[in-house]
Amino acid sequence: MISIDLHSHTAYSHARDSVADMYASAVSKGLSIFGFSEHSPRPEQYNYPTEYRDRLSAHLLDYVQEVTELKNNPGPCRVLFGMEVDWFEADQDFVAGACRQFPFDYLLGSTHFLGTWGYDGGTTPWEAMDEQARFATYEAYFKTWTKMLASGLFNIASHPDLIKIFTRDSFHSWIVRDESQRLVRHALTVLKDQGMAMEVSSAGLRKPCREIYPCPMIMHLAAEVGVQISFASDAHTTDDVAYGFPSLASYARSFGFTHSTYFAGGQAFSVPF
Ligand SMILES: [Zn+2]
Ligand SMILES: [Zn+2]
Repeated sequence: MISIDLHSHTAYSHARDSVADMYASAVSKGLSIFGFSEHSPRPEQYNYPTEYRDRLSAHLLDYVQEVTELKNNPGPCRVLFGMEVDWFEADQDFVAGACRQFPFDYLLGSTHFLGTWGYDGGTTPWEAMDEQARFATYEAYFKTWTKMLASGLFNIASHPDLIKIFTRDSFHSWIVRDESQRLVRHALTVLKDQGMAMEVSSAGLRKPCREIYPCPMIMHLAAEVGVQISFASDAHTTDDVAYGFPSLASYARSFGFTHSTYFAGGQAFSVPF
């Protein structure tokens, strides 16, 4: 049974519910560890359809204080203080600064942007692409993802194949190719060498791709390379907390995984699920 959820958001960004309500939901779902991983504010030029920059920037310290209070006064479920930090290839000093802001237990590294394009923000640009253009975009994504992994700034690589969000079938046609698998296998080797864990996330089940992040082929490659995994819901509401965890557990087990990893104070801990 999975009892650890390491990826969640609150009303301080673009999610719905408060820190206290998310924690109450984690308790009611019987979790033993719940990680808060609010987004980190983005630089000006990186725009997003569900923009929350101003609100989050104004309230970041409130968020940190609320999570820290919960962490220091634990109830039935232990709290970890994390953050989901965007990888901006052209603004790496900004990224490194965001990672040093607070005494985090762990950091999620996320590639939501290719250049300044937030590719998961809407389906329109994807509809305009033919298969060749999509394949080139997947390749660009995994090259950028590898740089994020190699930066050494993060503990967990979140939603590893988020790039498939609107074009799952094209993505599956891409990932079966030898050169795609070489690229992804190299990325996973970097991930492992950095001591990171790969997130296995039920968020994909709630998105247009209707598939767990990452896809079966990447799970297979991850098992071959021997990477650690972490489980997450990427909850944006109290209902999402621990969403689909029985499915995540049987999915991961089918590739031979028996343990998941969490990070506290930057240190990795492996526990059976
Ligand atoms: Zn994300
Ligand atoms: Zn998230």
